Parts: sequence; structure tokens; C-alpha cells
Amino acid sequence: MMMIMTSENDYLTKLKRAREKLPSHVFEKSRFEIPTADVFPEGNKTWITDWNRILKVLNREEDADHLAKHLAREFATSAVEERGRLVLQGKFSKKLINRELETYVKEFVVCEECGKPDTKLIKEGRILIKTCEACGARVAVR
Ligand SMILES: [Zn+2]
Repeated sequence: MMMIMTSENDYLTKLKRAREKLPSHVFEKSRFEIPTADVFPEGNKTWITDWNRILKVLNREEDADHLAKHLAREFATSAVEERGRLVLQGKFSKKLINRELETYVKEFVVCEECGKPDTKLIKEGRILIKTCEACGARVAVR
């Protein structure tokens, strides 16, 4: 029995030493990268041409309306989904749209606790709760 304990301790010591030799970034959390939307102006409209891809990356295919309404409200315009693309009334630069997308992702998609984008928006009464499926964190959002 004592022999086993000793060899186990030896093993753990060796493991600890091996881990200490590894570069520190190996243990860092992988960082989620916010997608950049492709933006195409057409007359007095602005298209987000890869809308479906954005929704997929953000895991928001079921909550597309929330993001579309958010963009429409921030730009004081209307937003309509059309065959996998989003069309905004008015002219908005790629930079402006992506800055707003980034703001949205930080507030409504990425988990504050673990930094992962594996969240869902769940309505509880009049409150919207961002619930993380990776770590279980729950945060009320506006
Ligand atoms: Zn989390």
C-alpha cells in the first residue's frame, strides 16, 4: 500500500514538472473571434451579404430577429432578412456595422464568465437572460 502511494506521488511530481516546462499559452482559454460582416452598399440600402454565416458563427440562427432589431434600433432604420442576407434602409459603412456587431456580440453573445460564445437568450417574464451552455453562467441583459 505504501509503495503504491509513493509511486503515485512520484508520478504526480513528474507530471507537475512536465507541466511547468510547457509554455504558459497552452493553458490559456482559446479566445473567440467576433466575425466580420461583409457589407455591400446599393443605392439607399446597405446589405449584410453574409448574414446567415454571421448567425451561424454566433449560434443565433433562432434569435436572428433580436440581432436584426438591435441593428435597426441602433441605426434608427429598418432591417429585413432577405434570402440569407440582411438589408438595412440607408447608407452605413462596413466599419460602422461591424462596430455595432462587435458591441452586440460582447453584450448578448459572449459569456462574461468563460469568454465562450456558447450562450442562449432565454426570456423569463420581461427579462432576457443570457445563459451560458459551457459554464452555466446567467446574466440579465437589456
Ligand atoms: Zn460561460
